[in-house]
Amino acid sequence: MGLFVIAFVVLVLGLVFGSFANVLIYRLPLNISIVRPGSFCPACKEPLAADEKLPLMSYLSQGGRCLHCKEKISLRYPLVELTMALGWLGLLLHYGAAFEALVGAVLFFFLLTTAATDLSSGLIPDKLTIPMMIIGFALSFYPFGLTPFSSLLGVLIGGGLLLIFALLGKVIFKREAMGGGDLKLLAGIGAFVGWEAVLLTAFIAVLTGAIYGAIYQGITKKKELRFGPFLALGGLVAFLFSDTILGWYLSL
Ligand SMILES: [Zn+2]
Repeated sequence: MGLFVIAFVVLVLGLVFGSFANVLIYRLPLNISIVRPGSFCPACKEPLAADEKLPLMSYLSQGGRCLHCKEKISLRYPLVELTMALGWLGLLLHYGAAFEALVGAVLFFFLLTTAATDLSSGLIPDKLTIPMMIIGFALSFYPFGLTPFSSLLGVLIGGGLLLIFALLGKVIFKREAMGGGDLKLLAGIGAFVGWEAVLLTAFIAVLTGAIYGAIYQGITKKKELRFGPFLALGGLVAFLFSDTILGWYLSL
């Protein structure tokens, strides 16, 4: 099978899993079953026909509106589907058809889904982060560069590190700096990237979050900053480039 055919299959799979991610992003914070009922319009609750469920295609063909109530469909749906597909394609091109690309795709699925759920609802559900820890640890048994020991340590350090930040934030800033969801997300990332890279993840997340927070709060005067997207960004960068970045750092 040529790379072109694999790339096409990966793009289609990415759209389908992006569509599944949209189900999780909408339903998990509302505590609705992810199986029943089938897909429906969030505005008028009308069940969707098979051709209205096609990822991306139905959004484009319907002009971004529900066929029944003509309500606008959130841009989040096509964006998540497209980001998943392009992210998976990027991983394939970066790693080739290797096991690392598969691990990266699973991690990317969790990162995009948790970040989007946090952005839309302010929650990072356990139903995402607990499976993330278990699956990340299970994948580390296949030798692709991460040992089960490093994965397990990544979970403990990821969770423990944010716990310290959270307690410090309470003492220093007298407010909840981080929630339990953030903590479990970093633990989940640790399971995929190992203990060294989870430190890098936290560093990138705190740095980018602080810079964004300073600008965002300066403009909007809002206190609340959702930290999940920054953890997701840190996790992705750490997964892709931790060897390069840590190697460069240690050689200084
Ligand atoms: Zn509708």
